[in-house]
Amino acid sequence: MHIEHMTIEEIKQGYQEKKFTVTEIVKSYIDRIKKLDGQMNAFIHLCEESALKEAKEMDERIKRGEILGILGGIPIAIKDNICTRGIKTTCASKMLQHFIPPYDATVVKKLKDAGAIILGKTNMDEFAMGSSTENSAFKITKNPWDLRKVPGGSSGGSAAALSAGFAPLTIGSDTGGSIRQPAAFCGNVGLKPTYGLVSRYGLIAFASSLDQIGPFTKTVRDAAISLSVLVGNDPLDGTIVQKKIENDYLSHLDKGIKGLKIGVPKEFLGEGLDKEIHEHMKKTMKHLEDLGAIIEEFSLPITDTGLSAYYIISSAEASSNLARYDGVRYGYRTEKFQTIDELMINSRSEGFGEEVKRRIMLGTFVLSSGYYDAYYKKAMLFRKKISNIFKEAFEKYDVILSPISSILPFNIGEKSKNPLQMYLSDIYTVNMNIVGVPAISIPCGFSRSKLPIGVQFIGDHYTEKKLLQVAFALEQALGIYKEVPVMKEGE
Ligand code: GLN
Repeated sequence: MHIEHMTIEEIKQGYQEKKFTVTEIVKSYIDRIKKLDGQMNAFIHLCEESALKEAKEMDERIKRGEILGILGGIPIAIKDNICTRGIKTTCASKMLQHFIPPYDATVVKKLKDAGAIILGKTNMDEFAMGSSTENSAFKITKNPWDLRKVPGGSSGGSAAALSAGFAPLTIGSDTGGSIRQPAAFCGNVGLKPTYGLVSRYGLIAFASSLDQIGPFTKTVRDAAISLSVLVGNDPLDGTIVQKKIENDYLSHLDKGIKGLKIGVPKEFLGEGLDKEIHEHMKKTMKHLEDLGAIIEEFSLPITDTGLSAYYIISSAEASSNLARYDGVRYGYRTEKFQTIDELMINSRSEGFGEEVKRRIMLGTFVLSSGYYDAYYKKAMLFRKKISNIFKEAFEKYDVILSPISSILPFNIGEKSKNPLQMYLSDIYTVNMNIVGVPAISIPCGFSRSKLPIGVQFIGDHYTEKKLLQVAFALEQALGIYKEVPVMKEGE
């Protein structure tokens, strides 16, 4: 049984045809993780015992002829900033190293209700701040396609776990690209839904007005299945859309893209874009044209302003969200203190890593009374302007096509000493979070050194259906979704 190639759909079909049991599947994944994750570090925590117990219960339900949920018996892994009841949720931070949530995030509840079985929690950049998963307080995750390279970030553990064949579905969060960029680096499909489509309740906040949860999958069809489980109203999240939510993302997928207008921002193809990624963008445009879409280059003058606005807004919100970790209420507490001030200062100094402290300082600075107008207020004005620019673009185009990262997966350690260079690599992903629109990242080929390359389709608010449709057409035309990295034991 080659589980590393299996999609959600194939596993579901296998259960129906009684080709294998849920216990056999769960056991195979756990064996594979135990055999191979030592060299990759995708997981922070494995839930072997509970996963096998749930698998057994699921097999009994199948024997009794019960109908399983949409994800009945599907093993999944969840980024470690999403609360799981009774399972440690650390945000890859010393601050929350021993935190066991007393409740499930809404998405976790939905996944469990649909029958999914949690295999474990995945590594990430501390508090989701980073683009390489090197900022975890515990371990550095490696890219399964080349263990010298980063898997992207901040959801690098979920992306690496998916492509290494440790689960057919993993969950991540995207504040400025943290699903799409690691999906591109690891050769997965990664979806950042519209802001407000998926509940954030139980997602440990980084920047509340930008954060969204979404899936990593092998195929676009699997992404559509997963999205239908994740979406939905939630009285516990005040920012979730209060309207009837579409949850059939599958049935229209093969409608094709004849006549669809796809815009490609000129600014996204210019200076700074890696040559091989540029070549793949051109090839993708040609493929889409052959499929009947109308491709047009146009101007979307947002890249630089978007990046600056993103780092100001996200750091401002982070500084406020992370104020709750004071060593008093919960989280890490220092042993070195005499006064209450020392307790707070030392707990925060010892509990947070370097990048998190950098963002808190930046965020506090841009919100301080002397600089608020010059930075935060200006960034918010840019946010409005960028939204208008996107609005105009979507009056002309059904979908926008763009690269995800300007660079190929880079070497571990290559950028970690230069935060600004790391921030620059987010130039093509942050704007979608600023505006709140959905975007899907899909593999479009490999570099000459056999590293995955992805592209993203961006749509107007709540056009996930259309995005999935375009991504599906491209995926079928390219036919590369079955490729998995070769991994050997003890490498
Ligand atoms: N790389 C971006 C940052 O460090 C995005 C992170 C994210 O999406 N969580 O802020």
